[in-house]
Amino acid sequence: LDFHETDELASFRDAAREWADENVRPEWVEEQHRTGCFQTMELHRLMARDGLLGAGWAKEYGGTDVDPDYARAVFDECARRGLHSDGWASSCMIIGTISHVATEEQKREYIGGALRGEMMFALGYTEPDSGSDVAAAKTLAVRDGDEWVINGQKMFTSTAQVCTHVFLLVRTDPSLPKHGGLSLFMVPLDGPGVEIHPVHTLGDQVTNATFYTDVRVPHSALIGGVNEGWNVMKVALIYERGAGSPASNEQTLAQDLAAWSKANGRFDDPLTAERIGRIAVEQEVAKVMGQWVRWRAKQALPAYEGTMRKLFSTEAAQRQYSDTMDVLGMAGLLEPGAPGAPAGGRFELNFREAVVTTIYGGTSEVCREIIAERRLGLPRNRPSK
Ligand SMILES: Cc1cc2nc3c(=O)[nH]c(=O)nc-3n(C[C@H](O)[C@H](O)[C@H](O)COP(=O)(O)OP(=O)(O)OC[C@H]3O[C@@H](n4cnc5c(N)ncnc54)[C@H](O)[C@@H]3O)c2cc1C
Repeated sequence: LDFHETDELASFRDAAREWADENVRPEWVEEQHRTGCFQTMELHRLMARDGLLGAGWAKEYGGTDVDPDYARAVFDECARRGLHSDGWASSCMIIGTISHVATEEQKREYIGGALRGEMMFALGYTEPDSGSDVAAAKTLAVRDGDEWVINGQKMFTSTAQVCTHVFLLVRTDPSLPKHGGLSLFMVPLDGPGVEIHPVHTLGDQVTNATFYTDVRVPHSALIGGVNEGWNVMKVALIYERGAGSPASNEQTLAQDLAAWSKANGRFDDPLTAERIGRIAVEQEVAKVMGQWVRWRAKQALPAYEGTMRKLFSTEAAQRQYSDTMDVLGMAGLLEPGAPGAPAGGRFELNFREAVVTTIYGGTSEVCREIIAERRLGLPRNRPSK
């Protein structure tokens, strides 16, 4: 693994900055936080137009010649400007999963649709009674001829308000042991029987509770075999924790905080310097871990590396923004839009946003268990399946 940025990568970053200067509208950041929808569809259409969505994916399903490192640099550039692309992030997890487990016809339909920018996928795993224990899902699908009839409820179906489909985990045989009776379906979100209700969160994101009442889908919407859902979920969860995310986790917090401290006479305070130094080190470690996961993902589906990166970078982000608040003092309380808010309120906003990152995509406790079992070979600390 070579950690040095090549000349080519540096030129991609320049080109990505130019792309973002030309195409990204600053009001989209404000709009995402006002509406709580962390996916700007106008930006997504521009990315599809320029072939950026297909970068790195197989040509036969609509992948393009655009270099994935250039596409990543464009996503990074958008993230650096404060824009989320959560709908595309969840879509990439599903595209990756489908490319491992689906039929040829499904790959052409769903991967092709997503890479053309016509489809976007939300994750429908969590239920009101089961989050970390994903396999305890109760939403039921019953076969009726060539169709399946779905009834149940999902919690935290993020970006469902703009997605075309939800990748829905359901129980297809309640008589089998918990992990045995599950299946996954691609369910259109605009069909009869689907209801989407907003759930507001601390970090401004509006996620959703979704309800399914006698929702009918054809048998062809089943991804993987009947009752094979747990094997599909194993791949999907690996993608969720790191292998398929389109933007890296690089941040500029240490530099931004140093600039603010210099401009506000705090830079000479040893406690400020100590905090900024700690943030800079953690930022670098998170960046290198991201490179490591991407490098591993090019060789094979990572087993625990994405989980290690997710655990470290999300817990580090909470420490970093807590340190940032200490450095800013009272000024740190000013929200985006408030006169005099440091960095336009971005520090305060990111402080709030960091809170949920150790919950979604696997809580820190669950990540530690995965690392203990799969990386260190320690025994399971809970009852066997
Ligand atoms: C903003 C946001 C967006 C989300 N988006 C989506 C989405 O798009 N799609 C989706 O399906 N889900 C989504 N989620 C759900 C998320 O993945 C779950 O919240 C998460 O899995 C935790 O589940 P839970 O909330 O039911 O908590 P629980 O599983 O009930 O956990 C409660 C506490 O118990 C701990 N705990 C649970 N099990 C264990 C264990 N085995 N060992 C040790 N400790 C344990 C947890 O760490 C936690 O501290 C989202 C959540 C949030 C907050």
